[in-house]
Amino acid sequence: MKETSEQQSFSRRNLLQWVAGLVGTGSLTAWFGKDASAQGLGSEAPRLQPAQAAAPETAQAQNPLTPDEALAQLMAGNQRFVTRKRLNPHQNIARITEVATEQAPFAAILSCADSRVVPEIAFDQGIGDLFVVRVAGNIAVTEDTASEEYAIAMLGTPLLMVLGHERCGAVTAALKGDKLPGVLDSLVLAIQPAVKASEGEPGDRLTNAVKANVRLQVQRLQTSPIIASAVEAGKLKVVGAFYDLDTGAIDLVS
Ligand SMILES: [Zn+2]
Repeated sequence: MKETSEQQSFSRRNLLQWVAGLVGTGSLTAWFGKDASAQGLGSEAPRLQPAQAAAPETAQAQNPLTPDEALAQLMAGNQRFVTRKRLNPHQNIARITEVATEQAPFAAILSCADSRVVPEIAFDQGIGDLFVVRVAGNIAVTEDTASEEYAIAMLGTPLLMVLGHERCGAVTAALKGDKLPGVLDSLVLAIQPAVKASEGEPGDRLTNAVKANVRLQVQRLQTSPIIASAVEAGKLKVVGAFYDLDTGAIDLVS
C-alpha cells in the first residue's frame, strides 16, 4: 500500500508480461491452481511444473488491494456519494496519462445498463478504477462472463460485484412474462429462474426478484473455472449488491 506509483507501475508491467507469458505457454493453470485451460486459454500447450511457476511475490503484486480492501474502498466511495461528499478521484488529465498504457482496476462490476445506475459515479471512482460490464438485467451470459474473466485473469482485479437495482425494467419484464419484440426475450430467459426462486417470499415482489437475480448471476459467474479458481486461491471475492434508486445507497445482497 505504501508503494510509490513508479513501483506499482513497474510491478504491473512485470505482471502483464508474466501473464502474457502464461497465456502463451498455457500455464494459467499454474497461477489458478486449477484447470483454467478448460476455458480454452492455451489448452494446446504443455503445463509448467510447479517449480517453474511464477514466483509468489509476482502474483501478489497484481493489485495492491486485497479483495476485502477493494470491497471496503468501493463501499466507502458509495458512502461519499450518498452523503454528498464525493471526491471525484482519478478524473483529471494526469490520470489519463497515468493509465494510458496499462490498467489495474481494483473492482470489476457487472451492472444493469439502466441509465440511472452509473458505477463510477455511485462508487465515487474515476478513470481506470472500475472494470464495468453493463447489460440490462445484469445477466452473466457468455460475453459478459468472458469480459469479467478478462479482468480477473489478465488485470488481476481482486473484486467482482454483480450490481442490481430497485425497479429494474428487465426484471419487471421477466416477472410479467409477456411476449416481447426483437430479441428482448433473451434477457427475460436469463432472469426467469430468479423470478421462480423468489416466488412466495415476503415483501415486495419486484425487489425480491431483483435480489434473487443478483444471487443467480453471482452463482453463474462462479461457474467460470477462471473465476472459481481465483476465489479458491483467495485472489478474488465475488459479491452481489443492490442499488436504491431513491437514495443512491448500495447494499450487499447476501
Ligand atoms: Zn435494470
